[in-house]
Amino acid sequence: APRKDSPLYALLEQAAAYYRQQLRQHPKKARAVSYLKQRGLTGHIAKTYDIGMAPPGWDNLMAHLARDSTEVKALIEAGLVVENEDSGKRYDRFRDRIMFPIRDSRGRVIGFGGRVLGDDKPKYLNSPETPVFHKGQELYGLYEAKQQNRQLQDILVVEGYMDVIALAQHGVTNAVATLGTATSEDHLKRLFRLVHSVTFCFDGDKAGRQAAWRALNSALPVLEDGRHVRFLFLPDGQDPDSMVREEGQQAFEQRINQQAQPLTEYLFRHLSEEARPDSLEGKAHLAALALPLIDRVPGSLLRRLLRQSLAQITGMDLNQVASEAAQAPAAQQ
Ligand code: ATP
Ligand code: MN
Ligand code: MN
Ligand code: MN
Repeated sequence: APRKDSPLYALLEQAAAYYRQQLRQHPKKARAVSYLKQRGLTGHIAKTYDIGMAPPGWDNLMAHLARDSTEVKALIEAGLVVENEDSGKRYDRFRDRIMFPIRDSRGRVIGFGGRVLGDDKPKYLNSPETPVFHKGQELYGLYEAKQQNRQLQDILVVEGYMDVIALAQHGVTNAVATLGTATSEDHLKRLFRLVHSVTFCFDGDKAGRQAAWRALNSALPVLEDGRHVRFLFLPDGQDPDSMVREEGQQAFEQRINQQAQPLTEYLFRHLSEEARPDSLEGKAHLAALALPLIDRVPGSLLRRLLRQSLAQITGMDLNQVASEAAQAPAAQQ
């Protein structure tokens, strides 16, 4: 773990201030400002999420924040400057991008995401792992969600920065995003310290559906009784950003309330698509797939209800399902 007083925090905060200032003062700010407008964002929400701009050019940030090579080294450690291994050349990591500061849950800047203004590749660039930035643990927007809500009830987990920000723009202020990584058990443990209900809402595409099943697998080991995990699947081609812009806050929230499936429902539905439990073979297949997953649920009441439900679907005797559980094959993920 980084020292609490790591000098990187102050440096990252200075970088965020610099990017923020560029979006307001840089002679070429117009393109970035109109990009954000065109994506439906107001100045108010840009402020809430502290959106900034890295100007075009190789060493703007370096020239602004480093006076000597010791300070350049600190920028490299912070992930803000890149050193080419062969040539030794140093240059700003983020150039000509919209900048999203990533804060830890206490509000300290720990890294950045940067988006190109057009269709260049890569579309998003994130800070690398540094002594203060660990992608597998941090959630973008969590600090801002806590700031905007006195009491969080349910947290919405989405894929991207722009999903979080567009949702907030439309009044849905409880969204967070993983940082280009899969949702981990650590992420979920962190969220369940704050709320008892987590809803996943990934993109309506193949990657989003795969991410949902992986999220289910990460959620199983934290499913204590009293915790809720739900999944909202969006129509093909939509993501939370496009969806909320199209239909607005009310319809989007109604969609969550009416269409989000409890994890248990998604689990049986997904496995049934593979096992097709309309024959005895299919029922055995379903039980073989489901039992190892059910066994990973720590909530003993929920685990019992899941076995009961499996017994009902397969027509097996409940005692049988319970005793088979001990010898079921390893989970197929
Ligand atoms: P936008 O709406 O701005 O085009 P998006 O968030 O909908 O972007 P997706 O392609 O759905 O983009 O990707 C979801 C998330 O995955 C992004 O927000 C980003 O965090 C991450 N991501 C996407 N592409 C990359 C990339 N090339 N490198 C790193 N992370 C990426
Ligand atoms: Mn996508
Ligand atoms: Mn998307
Ligand atoms: Mn998008």
